[in-house]
Amino acid sequence: MTIQRDASGRLQIESPLMGESLMDKALLASTDTTPIHRLMPDLVVVKVGGQSIIDRGRTALLPILDELVEARKSHKILISTGGGTRARHAYAIATDLGMPTGVLAKLGSSISEQNALMIAILLSQKGGIKIGHDDLSKLPNYFMPGILPVTHAMPPYGLFESPPLVGRIPPHRTDVGAFLLAEVMGAERCVLIKDEKGLYTADPKKDPSAKFIEEIDLSELLAMDLNDLAVERSMLESLSTARSVREVFIVNGLVPGNITQVLNGRNVGTRIYVK
Ligand code: ADP
Ligand code: MG
Repeated sequence: MTIQRDASGRLQIESPLMGESLMDKALLASTDTTPIHRLMPDLVVVKVGGQSIIDRGRTALLPILDELVEARKSHKILISTGGGTRARHAYAIATDLGMPTGVLAKLGSSISEQNALMIAILLSQKGGIKIGHDDLSKLPNYFMPGILPVTHAMPPYGLFESPPLVGRIPPHRTDVGAFLLAEVMGAERCVLIKDEKGLYTADPKKDPSAKFIEEIDLSELLAMDLNDLAVERSMLESLSTARSVREVFIVNGLVPGNITQVLNGRNVGTRIYVK
């Protein structure tokens, strides 16, 4: 890619994208021909659910942290955190006060960050350090001295969050945030720790006849168009266009041993995959 002077005398950096609007479909397709550099192909991004785990307090959370501390001896784990009930409370008040989606996204992010701070403090004697999103490019180096990084999973759209098709709740929350983190790091997989065995055909807390789904291809799941889900719809959209991560596991962290198994690549909950 050399610098050239064009007919008008202006300098141009010669490249395949020079002078393009970056909207032309054929040109866009041509930008996806080189392999993606996977920064950490051995990384597992784990999201600890806010409502499903952290809000349950010490009886739920502490055994999960113990399991993660043990597992980090043989795995590179990035812990990320959901928001949970406090985020829902903030969304309800903000909606009542007429706040737009972008403001709700800011509120949700700070609650997810509060949870990351508490988990990092609980893990501080075991190498736990709260890191910000700007620190993620340093992740491989954090693992060298044995740091156990903890970050908030809310993606940083903030005030720029797009309003959803229906309602006002930010569509990109912490499931998709954890997934996008895994994708940009070129991680091995993304694991969502929640309080049910995995995905069912309906919310098992509300519908006792809901059927458990052990493993499902993403396109099949999208075709089912379920009314309620254990994961954000935006996460499914992101999985459909992901280049590196091919699978997401949902696991019940309240069952001892489940996290260890899933980190070893065994599905003890639900596996959603793309071929
Ligand atoms: P998190 O704490 O990770 O954000 P959520 O509470 O947002 O988790 O989502 C998990 C919850 O989703 C489960 O506890 C379950 O009650 C509910 N849920 C709704 N629909 C489904 C479904 N189809 N399958 C499984 N769980 C579902
Ligand atoms: Mg959630």
